[in-house]
Amino acid sequence: MIELKPINKMSSPILQPEEHVLSTLESDGSRRWLKPKLSKGVLLFRRRVLAYVLIAIFTVLPFIKIGGKPFILLDIPAREFTVFGFTFLPTDTVLLAIFLVGLLLSVFLFTTLFGRVWCGWACPQTVYMEFLFRPIERLFEGTVGRGGHKKKVASWRVAAKYVVYFVLCVYLANTFLAYFVGVDRLSQWVTQSPLEHPIPFAIMAAVTFAMMFDFCYFREQMCLIACPYGRFQSVLLDQNSLIVAYDENRGEPRGKLKKKKSQTDALPILGDCINCGNCVTTCPTGIDIRDGLQMECINCTQCIDACNIVMEKIGREPDLIRFSSQAKDSGKASSLLRARTVIYPLLLLGIASAFLAVFLLSKTFDAVVLREPGNPYTRTDEGQIRNILKLKLTNRTDEAMEFTAVVQQPANAVLQFSEDEVKIAPRETKTFHINIVAPPESFELGRANLEILVQNQNQVSRTLKLKLIGPYN
Ligand code: SF4
Ligand code: SF4
Repeated sequence: MIELKPINKMSSPILQPEEHVLSTLESDGSRRWLKPKLSKGVLLFRRRVLAYVLIAIFTVLPFIKIGGKPFILLDIPAREFTVFGFTFLPTDTVLLAIFLVGLLLSVFLFTTLFGRVWCGWACPQTVYMEFLFRPIERLFEGTVGRGGHKKKVASWRVAAKYVVYFVLCVYLANTFLAYFVGVDRLSQWVTQSPLEHPIPFAIMAAVTFAMMFDFCYFREQMCLIACPYGRFQSVLLDQNSLIVAYDENRGEPRGKLKKKKSQTDALPILGDCINCGNCVTTCPTGIDIRDGLQMECINCTQCIDACNIVMEKIGREPDLIRFSSQAKDSGKASSLLRARTVIYPLLLLGIASAFLAVFLLSKTFDAVVLREPGNPYTRTDEGQIRNILKLKLTNRTDEAMEFTAVVQQPANAVLQFSEDEVKIAPRETKTFHINIVAPPESFELGRANLEILVQNQNQVSRTLKLKLIGPYN
């Protein structure tokens, strides 16, 4: 438990924690602004290449089409999600649920194996912050060292930085929107006045504002306090997961390098860490990796690059900070075969099989018959019993479909459609009002079994069943 003690009993009633609570919090509770120093090394080079590839992918993805359909389109108003060219319709709840559970399990498995590599290497938050917004900041404000201590920067430079940020955020907000509305609709909107489409414009403005807030102000707080994936690390990692770790056996006791003043001068025996602090000032979340595994570590590997530069300068072996695992650090044998790495793939296999089975069994069209609210039945002038129902048809193919429907049971019952032509456009759902008119003798104890045969132009058919309501014979 953290003990609180007064900062200064005479002057301040504020209580101060005995230890550092958050890497981005000053002891008086104010925000500690981080300006991490860039450490150029081989890992930064790899991350940079990956980041720019990912930015390019994120930008072009909405433009890519497979068989005339978008590669990805999350059409929320139409309740249709297209992923890898396959469209999940509102009736595909089971498929979508299986897909999402599979996605979640894949994340669990990936994290168990590779720790937070996603956070430091591929998450859009880190990619855009570290490889787009931060370089622009360094360009306008110079490289500021010692994580958090600002140097005086001309106000025109700060203003210019925000102008560039704003342009980038507008562009990113439009890219983001393209995933939800598609590039065709978006390019129409971009060329029209905002007054012609005020709601999409308001959404774009809100996303721009959210991005400005994130990349200008919130920054590393997204990883530290807002992102649920970050918060779940403690349960997702195990002893063998990949982590960034400091080799304590080799580094400690740490101490500044000292030169011998004379041959007889006895220097203390120190580890390889010269306590230069470079691994701390380069850290984008402001932590000291030498304190051990921390939830704030996003595996960005900047501390590895920073320390390797120092080790090279002082002529020592690299990798005092390196990729490791808790098992490896405590001298235990690492194993790829463990409960989680067996259970997760098995579950994933089950999920993939279930997805495939549901997918292969899914039909070319869905048909549902439902009762309309209101009177259970009415009598026609001829004394026949009329039930008012609705027939909901979903065309799951990419071609228009025509349907016919006939009553198979009860005998002599007739189906009357509200429309002459039962035609449905590709990937559309339409509801038709229908009347079933049946002779009164079809009913027994107020009920009669209804069976409707619905068939499309390719003779694919479904039989729909329902209980008709009628007189109590
Ligand atoms: S960069 Fe390396 S040598 Fe410097 S303080 Fe960190 S661990 Fe020690
Ligand atoms: S401790 Fe190292 S790997 Fe972790 S976030 Fe900081 S710099 Fe990145």
